[in-house]
Amino acid sequence: MFVGGVIHFTLIDFPGRIACTVFTVGCTFRCPFCYNKDLVLGNVSGTDVNAFFQWLESRKGKIEGVVVTGGEPTIQKDLPAFLERIKGMGFDTKLDTNGADPAMLKKLLELDLLDYVAMDVKAPFDAEKFSRVTGVKERVEDVMKKVAESVDILLESGIPYEFRTTVVPTLHGEEEIRGMGEIIRGARLWALQGFRPEQNLIDPKMKSVKPYPPKVMQRFADIAREYVARVELRGV
Ligand code: SF4
Repeated sequence: MFVGGVIHFTLIDFPGRIACTVFTVGCTFRCPFCYNKDLVLGNVSGTDVNAFFQWLESRKGKIEGVVVTGGEPTIQKDLPAFLERIKGMGFDTKLDTNGADPAMLKKLLELDLLDYVAMDVKAPFDAEKFSRVTGVKERVEDVMKKVAESVDILLESGIPYEFRTTVVPTLHGEEEIRGMGEIIRGARLWALQGFRPEQNLIDPKMKSVKPYPPKVMQRFADIAREYVARVELRGV
């Protein structure tokens, strides 16, 4: 596992659990609004995984869960073994993923290594739009097919999950919300997250994009409710 950092305590990243968060390095997407640029591009020195496990041992009884996020954790080939070790220590696990590796997601679920999954829904399945939002330039159709597979796997998984979308002006409007709603129709939860023009975005030009005002995000949430059981607005 190539781990870029750990946040030792979080009350908001794992629903219902006191948790820590592990950030893995690398991602196959290049979303222009991504604020984890250094993790995605590998501009980090890395964290000693054994030291992390020693620390985690000392947290038994104090925290309940471990969130594995990125970057994109599913590109790490030893993710199953990493999660198995965490579960073996008695912690619950949450995976954050962009859904680009359905085979890995399926494997993790079959091995009963996940207690919660948060999966990104980036854009409708339109090659031009999907490419613009994810920065994927090659084999876009294949990538969309894989993401669609992951959506189906999650919808049928039987474990708690959420889909989530960072709603970015210039990339998403009502049409895109509807397009994404179609992809995840019938899901239990869709979180719409406000865009944050942070300092270190993958595309520096995104810094000048102003987030949607709360009123517009509310309208998008109303539209999203036509497709899924529950919608949450976050960071708005
Ligand atoms: S926001 Fe995009 S580029 Fe950043 S980690 Fe997620 S999928 Fe990768």
